Amino acid sequence: MASHIVGYPRMGPKRELKFALESFWDGKTTAEDLQKVAADLRASIWKQMADAGIKYIPSNTFSYYDQVLDTTAMLGAVPARYGYTGGEIGHDIYFSMARGNATLPAMEMTKWFDTNYHFIVPELGPNTKFSYGSHKAVSEYKEAKALGIDTVPVLVGPVTYLLLSKPAKGVEKSFSPLSLLGSVLPVYKYHVVSREVIAELKAAGASWIQFDEPTLVMDLGAHQLEAFTQAYAELESSFSGLKVLIETYFADIPAEAYKTVTALKGVSGIGFDLVRGSKTLDLIKSDFPADKNLFAGVVDGRNIWANDLVSSLTILESLEAIVGKDKLVVSTSCSLLHTAVDLVNENKLDDEIKSWLAFAAQKIVEVNALAKALAGQKDEAYFSANAAAQGSRKSSPRVTNEEVQKAAAALKGSDHRRSTNVSARLDAQQKKLNLPVLPTTTIGSFPQTMDLRRVRREYKAKKISEEEYIAAIKEEIHKVVKLQEELDIDVLVHGEPERNDMVEYFGEQLSGFAFSANGWVQSYGSRCVKPPIIYGDVSRPKPMTVFWSTMAQSMTSRPMKGMLTGPVTILNWSFVRNDQPRFETCYQIALAIKKEVEDLEAAGIQVIQIDEAALREGLPLRKSEQAFYLDWAVHSFRITNCGVKDTTQIHTHMCYSNFNDIIHSIIDMDADVITIENSRSDEKLLSVFREGVKYGAGIGPGVYDIHSPRIPSTEEIADRINKMLAVLETNILWVNPDCGLKTRKYNEVKPALTNMVDAAKLLRTQL
Ligand code: GLN
Ligand code: ZN
Repeated sequence: MASHIVGYPRMGPKRELKFALESFWDGKTTAEDLQKVAADLRASIWKQMADAGIKYIPSNTFSYYDQVLDTTAMLGAVPARYGYTGGEIGHDIYFSMARGNATLPAMEMTKWFDTNYHFIVPELGPNTKFSYGSHKAVSEYKEAKALGIDTVPVLVGPVTYLLLSKPAKGVEKSFSPLSLLGSVLPVYKYHVVSREVIAELKAAGASWIQFDEPTLVMDLGAHQLEAFTQAYAELESSFSGLKVLIETYFADIPAEAYKTVTALKGVSGIGFDLVRGSKTLDLIKSDFPADKNLFAGVVDGRNIWANDLVSSLTILESLEAIVGKDKLVVSTSCSLLHTAVDLVNENKLDDEIKSWLAFAAQKIVEVNALAKALAGQKDEAYFSANAAAQGSRKSSPRVTNEEVQKAAAALKGSDHRRSTNVSARLDAQQKKLNLPVLPTTTIGSFPQTMDLRRVRREYKAKKISEEEYIAAIKEEIHKVVKLQEELDIDVLVHGEPERNDMVEYFGEQLSGFAFSANGWVQSYGSRCVKPPIIYGDVSRPKPMTVFWSTMAQSMTSRPMKGMLTGPVTILNWSFVRNDQPRFETCYQIALAIKKEVEDLEAAGIQVIQIDEAALREGLPLRKSEQAFYLDWAVHSFRITNCGVKDTTQIHTHMCYSNFNDIIHSIIDMDADVITIENSRSDEKLLSVFREGVKYGAGIGPGVYDIHSPRIPSTEEIADRINKMLAVLETNILWVNPDCGLKTRKYNEVKPALTNMVDAAKLLRTQL
């Protein structure tokens, strides 16, 4: 019985690659230094898998930045502006595409399916020339081989690569990158003379190659599915003497795509995500080709929970009965890139919680243990320790809180709406707030200085007293409040100086959350996030923000926004428990935030912003599942504020503007005011309203991009506002930046906000 790992995290157990990359980029270390760190990481990962007994060990899942960018390099598909003239693509061009350079911006980045990983979007056009531009896959294979480890080289499949590409600048929007299939395949193919990638891998001794084709789980049309059939038929002759694995992941595979993938020519194995894809199991059971291997992804690559080995074994045994003992391979649901690296380095988590978890290094051991158990060599001690941990998690009083369970269950059957409609509420609020037309505000955070970070760090490490900490934060809030008054902003914020991170800050104060010391997951390039772990029923032992918000309000006579993170965002940016549906956990968080909202209101805060920056991120990949998600996500948001008075103004904020397709859900959130990222894509957002969607609540599409240090002029901002006024009612429009200001510097923020307020004032005189 064989075992397989789809892919492995690259960053290293202590983010070694991150630090090596950043010091190389800063010019502090050489390319050789960077390559050495990378090679050591790869060697230790391969060795770890070999020692664990994994049969199919992946190579080429390492990357200096991103595996899709690696594929762009392999195919020589470098956009012309980066000046590639042929030959092996080096660090210079590679990192220019990834991060930009002194004169050129980076290529666009977007989310990898529904994960928090971001890939570099290939830019293709009818004139794109493909050539074999990077031998990375082959050199990694050889590198492992030299260490005595035979690996399975992993390539992004040609069809997925094209489906994830976009038309290059200047190319018709209607251009379909998929039309380039015929030009891409030659680089993959076997050429006796030119020795392209498959030929080289074969010559180096590879016996299996893995093609990742996760787009197969999306809602594809017949034409797109046909491209898979065509591509693999064309590659078939190159595959002779090789075995080919097609790997899919992230969702149930649709029935049509299942038919396509199981009929592909020249393919010896197919991998499925059986954690997210529970319906895929039925497809396999009804029909699986007799000549192919089934790579059964039963160990979750996207979460940090220890596998329930007994239940996985049951699934595997049922599959074994269908495909046969020698054709079943135990695998992970997807690449382990999306989970944390190694539990061994966790000193912050207590032993009980630790016993419930498995990071990438532990998941490898799970995969192998399952494969051995199927082969009749069950490690009884390992299985019984696992069963004990599963049992302790089920029965632990730290996990279950009866009161919370009851309160969440009682939510059913009601949809929690404020009793007065939004326009009447806005009238009631205006009587109290007395704001000018085109009111100005900001999104919450102000620049995070080195000093501030130091104060928080020292307080956490108990190096300064609580009094000293409060005094320092108070001084910062005072500074931010006075600045906003000087700038003449209408609705103020306290600047969030006490927060490290908008989710962590709340997670640390809520019950049911745990925090790892090193549970980092790559987000993009060298950037990693450390999601909180939600292990138990969520409750709020005491107020979380009331102290700071009331302090800030006492410093000014202008309205001060209370600032909270919404339940859906807390959920989507955490590792969520897998022993109850996600929506139940979300409802529990909603109830906790509701208490906070009510305490803020009782303390005299009249405007409360509940950020739902990540609401869209949780949208399921498959259309058929989206309505259900949107329904409970929007419901969760409404739960937090359905009980406030008409005169309390509820704001929400979102960090993306591509919500044309979910606009009705956004309206259904029934917030009084929504502020949204907009300045990077004016037209897109406004087109929704131009198309006649009725929007009656307050709305503040960002008037300038906070991601850039550039300072927008008054005219430019006024121009933007005018464009919005053309499609939106004057009395609902707010004026604000795109997002929080925490990554900016004061010498950027002050002039930018000055110009923003000037623009609003200028337009007020013209109305
Ligand atoms: N209130 C948060 C801030 O201003 C919102 C951040 C976000 O939307 N990502 O920083
Ligand atoms: Zn934002």
